Formats: sequence, structure tokens, C-alpha cells
Amino acid sequence: CGIIGILGKNEVAPQLVEALRRLEYRGYDSAGIATVDGMRLDRRRAVGKLVNLSDLLVHDPLRGKAGIGHTRWATHGAPTCDNAHPHRAGGVAVVHNGIVENFRELREELAADGYHPQSQTDTEVVALLTARELDRGASPRDAALSAIDRLEGAFALGFLFDAEPDLMIGARKGSPLAIGHGDGEMFLGSDAIALAPFTNRITYLEEGDRVILRREGAEILDASGRRANRAMARIDVGA
Ligand code: GLU
Repeated sequence: CGIIGILGKNEVAPQLVEALRRLEYRGYDSAGIATVDGMRLDRRRAVGKLVNLSDLLVHDPLRGKAGIGHTRWATHGAPTCDNAHPHRAGGVAVVHNGIVENFRELREELAADGYHPQSQTDTEVVALLTARELDRGASPRDAALSAIDRLEGAFALGFLFDAEPDLMIGARKGSPLAIGHGDGEMFLGSDAIALAPFTNRITYLEEGDRVILRREGAEILDASGRRANRAMARIDVGA
């Protein structure tokens, strides 16, 4: 299981698939990507080997220079296409590694407000919580941050938004997540190996960190919501 996110200069779909390939060693049962092409957020998902996803993308391509990708190791919900990530609700798409322990309570709360899941995963509540905040008028940044605040369990998360091709949000608690710094590009990934084709300038997020990424840079917030400075290191794992 792994996560990749790219705010790039070029078409990201092939780059996302390449990064996912580098995360295959972690094991997975399905995979998917989402991109924003100008205003439009869209996704493709496939069960089984990554080649199934790349075949699908040949027939039904995704355009855009911002995107997130995921390899799934199912914990809640069978390895089906509907359960594959990214999960989408309203104007947000979410990828997640880990387990949202309180998903049952959150699912009930959301259903009472008319937000119903389309999958059996624990993850989908993250997308639904964010969509509810967006509907209430929150900015994408605030919507994602308040959704993250509601989660118990272990997670590495990536968020991408409709009509926001220069914004990506990440969060880390109990699952590793790193930022990659490019020249006018920014990356998010489970490890430096996934990011190696794009950059060797890596910042590892610390436990409880949230990050707001734009192409010009990253704003990192610690677990208490304060601006945090995290060191950047050059890590060469071989592209
Ligand atoms: N718990 C989530 C799911 O089953 C994420 C699994 C993973 O880490 O890939 O969909």
C-alpha cells in the first residue's frame, strides 16, 4: 500500500502510475488515481495489478497536471473497484493508508446529515466529512483540516479538490508520509523511493503533521496546529 501526490508541470497520470509502480514492493490488491484538469476532478480505479490501471488509462485517459494515486491493501471492504481509492465525495478526492478506527460512528453521523457512502471502506468517511465541510462553506484547506481532526486511528492521507489545480493536502499519523520538493513542483509520497524519479529533496513529516502543498512550497502544521519547520534532506535511492 502506498500514496503519491503530484502538483506538477506535466501531465501527471503517467507519473502517478510510475510512482505507484515503485511502491508495488509494499504489496497491494487494487490501485487508482485522481487528477484535476483545470476545473474537473476525475478518477480511474482498477482491481489487481497496476497494469490493469494503466490499460484502463490508455482507453480512458485522465488529463491534468495535479493528481493523487494509491495502491490499496484492503482492511475494511473487499478488494473491489468500488472500494479502491481515491474515494470521492462532492468536490474532494482522498487517498488513505491505514485504518480510521472510528469510521462507524462517523458514518452514522454523516448518514444522519444525508451523506451516504458508496463503498464499504473506512476511508470514505474522510471524503464525506470533507464534502460536508465544503457544503457548509469551508475552504478546501479548512474542510480537509477539520475532517482530519475528527479521525482516530492510523493514517497517511492525501486530498485533491475540484477546481483547485494548485492545492494538495496531506496528513500523517501512524503511517509514513514524505514531501518532495521540485522546481516549481511539489510531491507527496509514502517514501523517498516513490519520489525518486522526480526529486531527491525530501522532508519527512512527523507524527501528527498536516501539510498544505502548493507548487511554490509547503506549509506544515504540527499536531497542535502550529506552523512547523521540518528539515529537508537529500536522499538518493536511485531513480
Ligand atoms: N483501510 C483502508 C481500506 O481498506 C486503506 C487500506 C490501505 O492502507 O491501503 O481501504
